[in-house]
Amino acid sequence: TQFSELGLAEPVLRALAQEGYDAPTPIQAQSIPSLLQGKDLLGIAQTGTGKTAAFALPILDRLSKTEGRTPKGACRVLVLAPTRELAAQIGDSFRAYGRFLNVRVAVVVGGVAHGPQIKAITPGVEVLVATPGRLLDHVDSGKLSLKHVDVVVLDEADHMLDLGFLPPIKRIIKMLPRERQNLFFSATMPTQIGQLAGDMLSDPVKVSV
Ligand code: AMP
Repeated sequence: TQFSELGLAEPVLRALAQEGYDAPTPIQAQSIPSLLQGKDLLGIAQTGTGKTAAFALPILDRLSKTEGRTPKGACRVLVLAPTRELAAQIGDSFRAYGRFLNVRVAVVVGGVAHGPQIKAITPGVEVLVATPGRLLDHVDSGKLSLKHVDVVVLDEADHMLDLGFLPPIKRIIKMLPRERQNLFFSATMPTQIGQLAGDMLSDPVKVSV
């Protein structure tokens, strides 16, 4: 399979060529066509499999068709990650693959000042990558609305569980619009993660690599 066969928009393909990616990895080839159709996804995959591009590329494709529609103080894509480092990497990936699109990307994580994050989200961002606690700080202080989220990604869900993030995640999910696309990634499926996936996902495509 080639990237050009998966149905991605031209500016996304151009960014991949610049990255030097020749062909999709297995999780990318198996996920991208369904994600472009708007389906929910349950991905069982470890880091290093190319899972970030598997979700970032179809999301950027979707955003390429709806540029400039994000209200102030809102985001349309929400990616939840367990750690600052992973959140930063995911943000960098969206920026790299989205370099030929008008896509604003912000990363909000704990342990750093609130001010610059608030400044970044106030005009509205297409993609917000966040750790759960700091995301809720911004929502609770009224600086961020989750009412316009139409795609949510939960990355490394099992790691989220280990770090005690299940309660904040459940709170966040309850604030999202009911009509949305859900992407769920985990390397393992402990019972509580299986339950969360069952609650969040609707008729998901399952991909295991
Ligand atoms: P991830 O599993 O998302 O952490 O990605 C692992 C690494 O693989 C990252 O450094 C990506 O830049 C790289 N990568 C992802 N997809 C591809 C691809 N199709 N071809 C070459 N490298 C890739």
